[in-house]
Amino acid sequence: SSSRADSFTESVIREMTRLAIAHKAINLAQGFPDFPCPDELKKAACEAINGDYNQYAITWGAQDLRQAIARKVKGYNGIDADPETEITVTCGSTEAMMASMIALVNPGDEVIVPEPFYENYGPDAVISGAVPRYVPLGNGPLDEEIWKAAFSKKTRAVIINTPNNPTGKVFSRNELQFVADLCAEHDVIAITDEIYEHILYDGHRHVSIGSLAGMEDRTVTINSLSKTYSVTGWRVGYTIADARLTARIRKIHDFLTVGAPAPLQHAAVAALDLPSTYYNELARDYDRRRKILYDGLRKAGFSCQLPDGAYYIFTDIAGFGMTDVAFARHLIESVGVAAVPGSSFCHEGGETKIRFTFSKKEETLREACRRLENLG
Ligand code: GLN
Repeated sequence: SSSRADSFTESVIREMTRLAIAHKAINLAQGFPDFPCPDELKKAACEAINGDYNQYAITWGAQDLRQAIARKVKGYNGIDADPETEITVTCGSTEAMMASMIALVNPGDEVIVPEPFYENYGPDAVISGAVPRYVPLGNGPLDEEIWKAAFSKKTRAVIINTPNNPTGKVFSRNELQFVADLCAEHDVIAITDEIYEHILYDGHRHVSIGSLAGMEDRTVTINSLSKTYSVTGWRVGYTIADARLTARIRKIHDFLTVGAPAPLQHAAVAALDLPSTYYNELARDYDRRRKILYDGLRKAGFSCQLPDGAYYIFTDIAGFGMTDVAFARHLIESVGVAAVPGSSFCHEGGETKIRFTFSKKEETLREACRRLENLG
């Protein structure tokens, strides 16, 4: 056994999915859709396989996909990226984050992790040898004093996740500019996970920290097809970073995976070519699902709030008189709904929280809400 592997636990999010299956509970734990991906993607994937795109792609990604990503990030994110030297296609954003951390962080370096955070960032830090330094996201604008105090000579990187999993917080341009200024002052890189960039509500707009002046050569922008196109099983993600950072990320990526699935990289080009109406519909559909789950949770006695982005509701459970893990078990075994205990997203204070996803069909959410009415 290795002390590294012993120093973190298996993913609670994935464990909840296995328990949901075992107990026939509705899975509002792991964030993936139970509805199909767009037909255009299915067709493109079949064509790629039938068209013999079945051997390794270039390790850092098929050229046509890197070119399509360059067009997309220029248009949507305001980032200029050279597909030959600044884009790496990875096995999902999970590998993108892990490869970036291994490539760019030295053991003992501090990495600032805003909290609550997506579960993977903890193990990512352990595996790369980084020392996580947690800063609370809070409600409302960032607390500038706390953020300033977290940056020091030891800081190597800051992880940004906007829209945030699990809280749905969408970082404003001003907040990102504030973080960017701290990065410049302390020579820190931003590693930014923007996988929910198209899932925004109530007029919120997505801003990429990598598009801000001075951040070109100190940002790794991470994204994936998983959430935007409802293909979490495809495992196609990517990093955008300047050539110097990308060269290091590509080396790690190559020896970790050789490359992401070649036929699905080919099909991903069709995804990136979808018309802009697709993204409007995506956000509109998630807005409806968001309101169904929100109404159901309020009726069931949760004091939750509507998120600004992403597809989760992270809610307080203090009133139910159980810790998060006991509450999650009760939900699965007695109510028939799976959710994720809050402690998976916090290094402290998560015991009074739980996360539900609404990345499910409206009928699935309605049935889950009916079941939650029995929560006594
Ligand atoms: N990001 C999704 C979640 O938080 C799925 C995570 C995963 O299992 N890869 O639930």
